[in-house]
Amino acid sequence: MSKILNFIKDIISPKYCYSCLKEWHFLCPNCLSKMKNFKEFCFVCKQLNYEFDIHKNCKKDVYYDKILILTHYKNLTIKKLIKDSKFYWRKDILEDFWQYLSTLLLKNEEIKEKEDYIIISSPMFFLRKIVRWYNHSEVLSKIVSKDTWIDCNFEIVKKIKHTKQQSKLTKTERENNLKGVFRLNYDLLDFIRWKNIILVDDVISTWTTINEISKILKNNWVNKVIWLVIASD
Ligand SMILES: [Zn+2]
Ligand SMILES: [Zn+2]
Repeated sequence: MSKILNFIKDIISPKYCYSCLKEWHFLCPNCLSKMKNFKEFCFVCKQLNYEFDIHKNCKKDVYYDKILILTHYKNLTIKKLIKDSKFYWRKDILEDFWQYLSTLLLKNEEIKEKEDYIIISSPMFFLRKIVRWYNHSEVLSKIVSKDTWIDCNFEIVKKIKHTKQQSKLTKTERENNLKGVFRLNYDLLDFIRWKNIILVDDVISTWTTINEISKILKNNWVNKVIWLVIASD
């Protein structure tokens, strides 16, 4: 009986903080601030660096310019939030992160002209999207776009093949696994030239994946590649 009552309560008042149970947010600003959050650092050498920029010396074979990460995936509350948001009907959990992600972006990237930026989602193979019902990265991209007034476009990079789970492979296997997997939409080349691309996702994928997508963009005259994610290990 209590299960049914809880279910009804969730429908009537669906937003409560996963950590302190306060209403209005799935993760309230207070609980987020108490979590162990990332200081501004370079994703390659893990040393502190202003605005999450990748150091010039760390840029060898690295194609992204900064990776903005809100919090640690090891945190059990975050883990549960992201796990629950995988269900289509709980995508409101992801949408509730809009303010945190936009603030993180605007704090660490000086955006003078919004026209110089485009928000895109991390590409997902179409069959996977059918199975999952939605692309979580698209949901996050839309909310950040709405809040920052930066245009979003989901036609720029496509994933044209299904891949094995990267985390279970060796470095060389990972690189081979990703060969020919992502394709740039060449009709949009003029649209992306000299622009700064912001990719939004829930959890940071493997280094090889983010670097491969960034490489395709950089090799096609994109000025800067920025990743904006909720959590990383
Ligand atoms: Zn809370
Ligand atoms: Zn570095």
